[in-house]
Amino acid sequence: MAVESRMDKIVGLCKRRGFIFQSSEIYGGSNGFWDYGPLGVELKRNVRQAWWADMITLHDELTVQPGAPSTFDMTGVETSIIMHPQVWKVSGHYDLFCDMMVDCRACKSRFRADHIQSSQCPQKPSKCPGEHDSCQLTDPREFNLMFKTTLGAMGTEADAAFLRPETAQGMFVNFKNVCDSSRVKIPFGIAQIGKSFRNEITPRNFTFRSREFEQMEMEFFCHPSHSLAWYQYWRDRRYNWYINLGISKANLILREHAKEELAHYSVGTADLEYAFPFLGPGEYGELEGVAHRGDFDLRSHSEGKLKKEGESLVVEQGADGKPKYAGSGKDLSYFDDQTRERFIPHVIEPAAGCDRATLAFLCEAYYEDEQPDEKGVMQSRVVLRLHPRLAPIKVAVFPLIKKEGMPEKAAELYRDLKQAGIAAAFDQQAAIGRRYRRMDEIGTPYCVTIDGETMTAGTVTVRDRDTLEQIRLPMNEVVGYVQGKLRG
Ligand code: ATP
Repeated sequence: MAVESRMDKIVGLCKRRGFIFQSSEIYGGSNGFWDYGPLGVELKRNVRQAWWADMITLHDELTVQPGAPSTFDMTGVETSIIMHPQVWKVSGHYDLFCDMMVDCRACKSRFRADHIQSSQCPQKPSKCPGEHDSCQLTDPREFNLMFKTTLGAMGTEADAAFLRPETAQGMFVNFKNVCDSSRVKIPFGIAQIGKSFRNEITPRNFTFRSREFEQMEMEFFCHPSHSLAWYQYWRDRRYNWYINLGISKANLILREHAKEELAHYSVGTADLEYAFPFLGPGEYGELEGVAHRGDFDLRSHSEGKLKKEGESLVVEQGADGKPKYAGSGKDLSYFDDQTRERFIPHVIEPAAGCDRATLAFLCEAYYEDEQPDEKGVMQSRVVLRLHPRLAPIKVAVFPLIKKEGMPEKAAELYRDLKQAGIAAAFDQQAAIGRRYRRMDEIGTPYCVTIDGETMTAGTVTVRDRDTLEQIRLPMNEVVGYVQGKLRG
């Protein structure tokens, strides 16, 4: 029998315990689309919240000012998925957001040209596309990844619109609105979390490459002369965010792009990459890109479609001598009323994927070990060592037995925890060891047991998922104890 890979086990756990399901599964599934189940939705919400807190809510604008003269503000927006089609022409997505694809005339499969070596031809025995005698691969052709739709009832080509392939453009086109409506001063950031859509040629590796996914992006606007210092700052800060939430340094790298790898707008880009279990040894997959976008976006949205000429960006002219794909014509420059200087801000963009981050946290957390049960017999255990802030359930409350007032006492504590805003579970089914293992498998960091001593002395045991250490606490201190652990 084939040995189940680590990735297969993680995918199996996600389905078995309600983290992630194939979309429309009862109809055979929809390739590249995923649904989050009862635990998955909580885990992903916690990832989102941890990002938003670090970027916006808990961001302390007074403490960090690398190379910059002042403090900085962080703000948020939520912009629409379907934007004015001109946005995508000016951003370059309409012309440039393409992958090269290769079709096989024999088996009718489609592959990404740059993924041929890591793809599998559907014919048996498994080989790369093109390696069977019967394979008939076409030459690579361009394929635009944007999903197209039509607005209104007429449905003509003039009504064509696109589902956004990234959230970033929502921040650029609102730059002036945010400047005019709030008291932000450069440097400052505008962040957004939301769905993006890409018609990926070969969606694969579970949620890693999907056609509908969620991004967590932030555009940081700064003075051109401080932009390199801010680029370093955000690269390091984003690296530490993953480490502080439990990703090990051994599995995370920060890789600076070579010049020829840079996107058309980018002055410099570093990827945060994770050693996902579906990759080979020494291979990493992108979690997040931190890009120095120069003034490309604000300049093109005000002036027109830009192209690179040597080291500089110039407005591309059409045959009629007019700017091609004209931008909005709105002035998106910034006036610094202290230095009396007008300039187009430079942008540093940390662009993360919420689904990829969630998947990395799941992969990092997955462990198998053996622990003695209540009779001292070793039992295999699956445990998700999720950071307590990410765990879908923070604490489970168990009455040791279903009598002698223990269930009622346990219900009392369960309600106290919920009222304090702590995600709690109540479980009185099966032997205590099995209940512990059920919670270990979904990453619950603390289990509290109500036993005989609770009824006489008012104390409970609190078991730690990772150390398996059990301490005794007065029951009325449990809420404060868990809150302290979550803050820590
Ligand atoms: P890739 O090279 O893997 O296609 P990308 O460089 O095109 O990714 P970006 O445009 O930089 O990705 O998007 C920012 C982030 O959005 C990525 O780092 C990733 O976390 C997430 N992301 C991008 N495409 C997908 C996808 N198809 N499925 C899930 N997440 C995605």
